[in-house]
Formats: sequence, structure tokens, C-alpha cells
Amino acid sequence: MQNTDIIISGGGMVGAALALALSQAGLTVSLIEKHAPAPFAAQSEIDLRVSSLNLRSERWLQQLGAWQALAAMRLCPYQYLQAGEAKASVRFDAADIAEDHLGHIVENNLVQLALWQQFNRHVTVITDTQISAVQENDTAVQVTLADGQQLSGALLIGADGANSVVRQFAGIGTQGWQYQQACLVAYVDTPYPQQDITWQQFYPSGPRAFLPLPGARASLVWYDEAAKVKQLAQLAPAALEHAFITAFPAELGAVKLKASAWFPLARMHAQHYVKGRCVLAGDAAHTINPLAGQGVNLGFADAMLLADTLIENQQAGRDLADNASLKQYQRQRKLQNTLMMSAMDAIYQTFSRDSDTLSFIRQQGLRLAANAGPAKRLLTKYAVGNGVF
Ligand SMILES: Cc1cc2nc3c(=O)[nH]c(=O)nc-3n(C[C@H](O)[C@H](O)[C@H](O)COP(=O)(O)OP(=O)(O)OC[C@H]3O[C@@H](n4cnc5c(N)ncnc54)[C@H](O)[C@@H]3O)c2cc1C
Repeated sequence: MQNTDIIISGGGMVGAALALALSQAGLTVSLIEKHAPAPFAAQSEIDLRVSSLNLRSERWLQQLGAWQALAAMRLCPYQYLQAGEAKASVRFDAADIAEDHLGHIVENNLVQLALWQQFNRHVTVITDTQISAVQENDTAVQVTLADGQQLSGALLIGADGANSVVRQFAGIGTQGWQYQQACLVAYVDTPYPQQDITWQQFYPSGPRAFLPLPGARASLVWYDEAAKVKQLAQLAPAALEHAFITAFPAELGAVKLKASAWFPLARMHAQHYVKGRCVLAGDAAHTINPLAGQGVNLGFADAMLLADTLIENQQAGRDLADNASLKQYQRQRKLQNTLMMSAMDAIYQTFSRDSDTLSFIRQQGLRLAANAGPAKRLLTKYAVGNGVF
């Protein structure tokens, strides 16, 4: 039996950040991950799974010492963020809040790798396996892995994504639904040099988004009815390339398709984040419509608060799984995550309906946001993660 302070299932972006933050405070962590990240090679193709990281997430990764490693690999900053529809749009500029960028587009697997590279001797990484049984008593939680290893710790963290096994072993139910829309993500070469803007144009069938990547490259996201997205995904590469060029705003230019994949979109929220000696963070606790690129930013916000809570428990000599403090974590994060999910749904509903009244409201709202100085600055602060979320 291997003894440790904390067991984490899932070493993706959120689980790895938690393992790093806890180990830097001297806690011992056993991290169980199905697939270790591949090493980086400068000539390797860009991962299709990219995320927009806000300034708050960036600053936390800097504190953890992982940002520098990520920057040495690949990332793309953006100064402007533009959202709108054909007749009205709003452009946010980092200069309005005295910053030189609003965020970065990063490859998920490189964020994970940069975090793993910082692990110290307090982190024991166990790969290519997963939890097959969980047992809990008054003082510890014991897990058995599929390969027969056994671990014991004060707390088990589920950071193992939307299909979390920890959530299932803890018997925590979920609420949510599948959206009618799905999205097609493509990685393309663009005719222009590296861009410093990310834009999203709304259409009645769903938004179409441009995320800049390092060099003359970009990630494109096309949200549409699930049936339409599946049809697009079956097109030959040249036909799909043509579809992007004709369906996206002209500013996209004549892109060259490199790779694409489609994703279903689901809203899922765990009924509890905490049960006994199990606690959830990141996509294990919630998945959100990705239209404003908030998923992992919310996951990092969970991880920041959970790490602080556990470090405080340790410093105060309390049980790491102290129920009152974990409930406080649950209360705070569940509220913020619910607010963000509802905000995304309001945007989804408002922009997905083709009615004259809604179109009028959308255009007035966009014009107001574009012209109102203090309100625009406030919205920009939310966009970079300096609001309540
Ligand atoms: C199309 C799309 C676009 C998105 N764009 C953005 C964006 O721009 N910005 C943003 O912030 N978010 C975005 N998101 C959301 C973001 O990708 C997720 O919120 C983020 O990946 C969650 O990180 P996580 O570490 O919680 O979970 P995951 O990334 O799912 O990682 C879970 C980890 O656990 C491992 N694992 C799973 N099961 C087990 C098991 N049983 N045992 C051991 N290990 C296990 C997995 O291998 C993985 O490494 C997007 C999502 C989608 C679908």
C-alpha cells in the first residue's frame, strides 16, 4: 500500500496544476493518468485541442513556474477580441485595461506537458492505468488501480474530465443536457502573418470563430446544428476548406486546411463537488458550452481555490478532507460556475434565434457595449478573468 497525502485521478491541465500547486506546498501527491503527455518537438503539428487562456489563468501558471516552459514551446497572444454579427460588433482592446494582451491561445497538451515538467519529488506519477475501486473510512480513502496497485490518502480529487470515474465511485449525480448544436474545429494555415485578434461572428445557425495560432496559422470553430456539423466533418479536405472560406467572414482569407474534428456540446454540472473524502474539479465537475472559451479557465479557478483550501487545512493541522472547508469550496465554485454556464446559455439562446426583435436587441446591445467606455472596460476585465468568475 502506497501512502500519500492526496490522490488525484486525471493529470490533464486541471489535475496537473493541482498536483503542482499542492506539491509546491510540501504535500505528497499520487497522480493517476491514463495517458502521459508526449514530449514536445518544435516541428510537431499543432494539437487540434486548443484553449483560450485568460490573464488570470496565465498568472497562476506563472506562479506555478509552468508558464515559462509553455512560452518556450508554443503559444499565441492576442490583443483584440471581437464579437458580433453582420450588422454590429464590439471589439475589446487590451490597451483599454492597460494590458498588452487579453489572453493566449494555447495547445491543451502543451499546457499539460509544461505543468508535468515542473513536478518535484513530492509528486508520484502513475500512468497507463486507472482506478478500479474506492473505499473510504473515517481517516483515509483507499484506491485500487486496474493494475493491482493500492494507494491510501486523506483525500481523492477527481480531475479526470467529463466522464470522471471519481464522480461515479463517489455516487455523485449530474444535471445537464446535450445542446442541439455541435462544433467542428479545424486547424488551418492562413494567408496572413501571425494575427493578434480572436473573433467570433454570430449567425442564426451558430457562431463561427477564429483563434490565432503561432505563425501564419489559426484554429477555426464552426458551431451549427449537429446534423450539419456531421455532414461537414464527412467532406473531403478540399471541399471542407472551400466551405470554411465561403461560410466564414471574408477577413478569414483563403485558408489551407491541415486537420479537423467535430465535438458534441454538452452542459453538465455535478450535483455536489464534495462527498466524504472525494472532491471534484474542472470538467469532472462541470462542462460548459465552449462558445466563449471558458472551460479550462473555470477549471483553473476551481483548482486555485481547492489548492488554497487544502494548504490552509494542512497549515492549520486540520484533516485535509475537513468537510466544512471543502463545503465552502463547493459553495463558492458552484455558484461562480453556475453563473458562467447561465451566461453562456443566454448568449447561445439570444444569438441562435432568428427573430427581428432579438436581432434588434442584439444590435443595440453590441452598439452599447462598443460605445460605453466604463461598461466596455468592465466587460474587458471579465473577458480576462478579473471579474467574479
Ligand atoms: C471544442 C472545444 C473547445 C474548447 N475551447 C476552450 C477554450 O477556448 N478555452 C477554455 O478555457 N476551454 C475550452 N474548452 C474546454 C476545455 O477543453 C476543458 O474545460 C478542459 O480540457 C478541462 O480540463 P480538465 O483537466 O478538467 O479535463 P480534461 O482536459 O478532460 O482532462 C482529464 C484528464 O484525465 C485523464 N483521465 C480521464 N479519465 C481518467 C481515468 N479514469 N483515470 C486516469 N486518468 C483519466 C485524461 O486522460 C485527461 O488527461 C473547449 C472544449 C471543447 C470541446
